Amino acid sequence: MNSITRIETPFISTAVPTANPTAIPTKVPTELDAQLSRIDAGIARILRRSLHGETLSTADACLLFETGGDEYRALLACADQVRHNRVGDSASFVITRNINFTNVCYMGCRFCNFAKSREHSEAEFLSFEEIADRAEQAWQRGATEVCVQGGLHPDIDKDFYRNLLIAIKQRVPDIHIHAFSPFEIWYGAKKARQTPDAFLRDLKAHGLGSMPGTAAEILDVEVRKQLTKNKLTTEAWVEIVKAAHRVGIRTTATIMYGHVDQPRHWAEHLALLREIQQQTGGFTEFVPLGFIHYETALYNDNPDQVRPGPTREEHFKMHAVARLMLQGQIDNIQASWVKMGPDVASQMLRAGANDLGGTLMNESISRAAGGSHGQEVQPEDMVAHIHRAGLRAVQRRTLYQTERVYPQAESQAAFCPPARQIAVAEGF
Ligand code: SF4
Repeated sequence: MNSITRIETPFISTAVPTANPTAIPTKVPTELDAQLSRIDAGIARILRRSLHGETLSTADACLLFETGGDEYRALLACADQVRHNRVGDSASFVITRNINFTNVCYMGCRFCNFAKSREHSEAEFLSFEEIADRAEQAWQRGATEVCVQGGLHPDIDKDFYRNLLIAIKQRVPDIHIHAFSPFEIWYGAKKARQTPDAFLRDLKAHGLGSMPGTAAEILDVEVRKQLTKNKLTTEAWVEIVKAAHRVGIRTTATIMYGHVDQPRHWAEHLALLREIQQQTGGFTEFVPLGFIHYETALYNDNPDQVRPGPTREEHFKMHAVARLMLQGQIDNIQASWVKMGPDVASQMLRAGANDLGGTLMNESISRAAGGSHGQEVQPEDMVAHIHRAGLRAVQRRTLYQTERVYPQAESQAAFCPPARQIAVAEGF
């Protein structure tokens, strides 16, 4: 492994991001300019606007999602350039451990194969002692964070989420607890008969550091109805995320794509996240999560109507269009190795993304749905994947403070094809 330099200042500001046109080069790099001059004039106009830091509309995003051939390759190249403009030539990862404290859940989301009934032979509900043990083991292995989520177990009482935080903090006071989806917050607040704001304020006081913005799926009423009858509504997801931001708890933002959704839903989802960020500034990053279909009722009951996850090209487009749509608002775009595999995820780093997420140690939700990319990526492999993409590797903390920088060996420079060259080489 390369030598390690510890630096103190964050490499990406955690302050509320705002568009900063003075940081955006007014001149488009020559090679990219030539590439844009050879494609459809309408698409080129949209891409040039994004290179100058301008805000794209949902209609613009829909057109970009429809691109193919040279226009598609130009989209990836522009996303790579905007990534460079906004966050420079670093890409990051965080050492974290997933702790899924229970898989018992009765919400019946049809895309989920993680949930079990309490009578199921594989049903699990970890004690606070076991959860604290796992957090301590993670800390001893260098983790700065634990990511704690679980099903909505009927035995969860009004104090459960608070007591879970207390158990971890008593054992490992300095670990960052990134925990509880907006759905879990909705459930806990109902049990405690509190408003989301009051419930979240109490959790923050007991050690909640930040929240995953999961359970978003697609923030569209009709699509959500097909995914699950009982799941949190779009309005409730937005309200809980805004409540978290109001009380000073930052969250990620996610999308789950590639099932019954269409590009217009993706564009509207991105526009809604951007609008929330303009109001609150509380999102740390955007994490596209491709649907994994193998073991899900959603796909297996309707294989003619439900897509088996996104295509490879759709993965690239999602990361690229998100970079352009969200620039100046949410400037960290994460590529999920759990969903795409580490090799494809690291290619996203040259198509708009700048983060590979967590090492995880115990990934189990995607595995239950038939995901095959393993439970853990070692930190040295994260560094190698980032270097292979031609970027400087940074181990970050949850809120994007720099933990360690891994200088890139000079020899790596020869091996850093930008997305447009990857696209040509791989024929898509
Ligand atoms: S996605 Fe979450 S809420 Fe839905 S069934 Fe699975 S564990 Fe329960």
